[in-house]
Amino acid sequence: MSTHQNRSVYVKSPWQFEVHDNPVSEPGPGQLLVRIAACAVCGTDFHVADRMAQDWQVFGHEVSGVVEAVGEGVTRFAAGDRVALDSSAPCGQCRICLPRPYGRGRPELCRTAATYYGSATMGFGKMLLTPQQCAVAVPQGMKLDVAALTEPLGVSKDLVETAQVGPGDHVLIIGPGPLGLGAAALARHYGAERVILAGRSRSESRMAAGEALGADLLIRVDETPLAAYDFGRRRPDKILVTAPPQALAEAIAIAAFGGVVAYIGIAWGPGAKVTFDADAFHFNKMSLRASHASPGTHAAETIRLLADMPQLGAQLISHRFGLEQTGPTLTALRDEKRTLKKAVMVND
Ligand SMILES: [Zn+2]
Ligand SMILES: [Zn+2]
Repeated sequence: MSTHQNRSVYVKSPWQFEVHDNPVSEPGPGQLLVRIAACAVCGTDFHVADRMAQDWQVFGHEVSGVVEAVGEGVTRFAAGDRVALDSSAPCGQCRICLPRPYGRGRPELCRTAATYYGSATMGFGKMLLTPQQCAVAVPQGMKLDVAALTEPLGVSKDLVETAQVGPGDHVLIIGPGPLGLGAAALARHYGAERVILAGRSRSESRMAAGEALGADLLIRVDETPLAAYDFGRRRPDKILVTAPPQALAEAIAIAAFGGVVAYIGIAWGPGAKVTFDADAFHFNKMSLRASHASPGTHAAETIRLLADMPQLGAQLISHRFGLEQTGPTLTALRDEKRTLKKAVMVND
């Protein structure tokens, strides 16, 4: 079986990187071989470099590129097509995916998802093999570095939809990282009446991006803690938390009657344990919901949103770097996470 030339970045905790050849085989049934154009850095990648990579491994999961070859049975794509990848996609066939009454009709909960995650090729490389289900077509005219934001914008979209943000809502987003910024833009897009972004004043470039993406109001929580902030006649109906878990207690304390608090966060370890006022939660008829956009179900929509909202790509991408520079760039950026928006590896 013939192979294709490839180079991949390997990582091992803590903060060790290597780039070397990683030949890749022809795509198997249902697979695409993708020539990677861009791969965006996710917060998860910092955790991987810091402590999650017990042994040398490939990584990177926010990918766009051009189809190089297709495996048997692939009908949706052909060589030369531009694609963006979600890191996983529902299988569509299990008891969870199948519509009721045959199943639960909840593909977003599928536990047997199609994915390239954990395979021998990942995003920080030249080539990647993926199940075709993970791919969506990139609209004409869209740059492939912007298309690489399809997966992370799906995470923002999942958060916004988990809170059922809609017309007239007053939305508070705690945490101005890339997910929070995407959520601010989407909350505005979905018709929220008021979008408030809360973060620390040292995250000024992120806060400024939030304003440019549609936040009406910025709260600098080191100057005015949320608990002390005067929301006036109306407290936020929907609170989206992309901040450390302790922010959940704060969110429950300040949400409007009947408020919905949606949360996303990973790998907080012992810091994941929080306490909150159950009386306030009960009497105020609150909802607390977890967002976890895996398997991904949003890519077909988020790539259109990226096309229709060019300010997203313009505001979110703050750094670009080449494949061989992946390790040094991540190392340099680990202490800059307060100001970093999206850093994107771009292949030439
Ligand atoms: Zn990610
Ligand atoms: Zn399934």
